[in-house]
Amino acid sequence: MAYNLRPAGRMLRELSRTQWLPNRDIQAIQLRKLRALLAHCYRTVPYYHKVMKEKGIRPEDVRSLNDLSRLVPVGKADIRKAPGSFRSRRLPRGVFEESTSGSTGEPFTFLRSKSTYEWELAGTLRAREWSGYRLGDRWADIRIQRRLLSLRERFAAARTDALLRRMRVDTYTLTGGVMMRGAERIASFEPFLVEAFPKILLEFGRFFEETKAEVPVVVSYGEGIAPFERGLVADRWGGEVYDDYGTTEAMAVSSECHVHHGLHIADDLYVVEFVKDGEPVSPGEHGRVLVTSLCNWVQPFIRYDVGDLSAPMDERCPCGRGLSLMSSVEGRDDDVIETEDGRLIWGEFTDWFVDVKVRQYQIEQLDRSRTVIRIVPDEGYTEEFGARIAGRARDLLGRGVEVRVRVVDAIRDYESGKRQVVKSNVGFPTVI
Ligand SMILES: [Zn+2]
Repeated sequence: MAYNLRPAGRMLRELSRTQWLPNRDIQAIQLRKLRALLAHCYRTVPYYHKVMKEKGIRPEDVRSLNDLSRLVPVGKADIRKAPGSFRSRRLPRGVFEESTSGSTGEPFTFLRSKSTYEWELAGTLRAREWSGYRLGDRWADIRIQRRLLSLRERFAAARTDALLRRMRVDTYTLTGGVMMRGAERIASFEPFLVEAFPKILLEFGRFFEETKAEVPVVVSYGEGIAPFERGLVADRWGGEVYDDYGTTEAMAVSSECHVHHGLHIADDLYVVEFVKDGEPVSPGEHGRVLVTSLCNWVQPFIRYDVGDLSAPMDERCPCGRGLSLMSSVEGRDDDVIETEDGRLIWGEFTDWFVDVKVRQYQIEQLDRSRTVIRIVPDEGYTEEFGARIAGRARDLLGRGVEVRVRVVDAIRDYESGKRQVVKSNVGFPTVI
């Protein structure tokens, strides 16, 4: 089957139209999609069939978005206990398995269909258009990889990238040399838009600045960008910064338009709630973000607790779009690890933990020669797995480094919502 952008293009045209509808009309679309999703879950997803039956919820009884609150939120930990029961029994062709970046220190695998991907790609493209981007404009994406991609993964990525005229800069470690070469490649590609995690934009930006090139639009995704970081990113890349929020499980949740007054939620693809102690928060008040994805029918995420904090906003944006608004998310505050031989390592360490029965982890570099890894074990964890984790850590950090794996009951969730999966006491200055 030849992959093409036609389905996503059709979806993009639809989303481009719905964004201008009044908010109540968008909510009607949302409710219609939600009812269809819940009916599907009731029929084909074991967990939801059981829960809805127990609570006496029939899909046809769902009359408003508020009815959604009758279902309890689910998190990665719930799904991990019985992954099969959260997946539809009726899978179409073209379903693939994906792993999250483990941004909360919890590796996680789920299913997405081709159509889910296309809807989310359309949602991403719509959000990029808010910055002035148009399909066909050159686009550079800097990604941190913790492992070499398989041939199949590289092929799939290359196909989409070619269609989108998107250049991918895959970096494995952030050394000065790698970043300089990456920055030069981006400069000669002359993209309209560059996107990456805020920390990557900051680090790469120092090198990009030296090329004297400029990129009109800079998209900071994956986690919120602090105001002082925004200024630095703008200076280093020479462009306008757009804050964007999405996760691997729900790619295109919200993004800024040119007004930069909060992030527009893709209400026509997701239902996003903000709760504190199980109750919805008031506008302006921070709560845990719950996402219901209206476009993933193979592994439905319903009131899915992403683990981020943000606040709903009750204003309408002067741009005229009817999509609702939320504030920038408060996310992680990870450090960069600097190894003995001067390599800088930042990002995800999911691969160390993927097959070793670990539920949560935190990595702390005590000094250049000592690192401790705290883990919350899952059922079936043994010391042998701990030794495997330590071995993998030494492969990356340096064979001479002392790595201790410590089993703990819990890893503290920071009160402000900021969590550190990676802590370093070596003190590499991430931001100057
Ligand atoms: Zn707007």
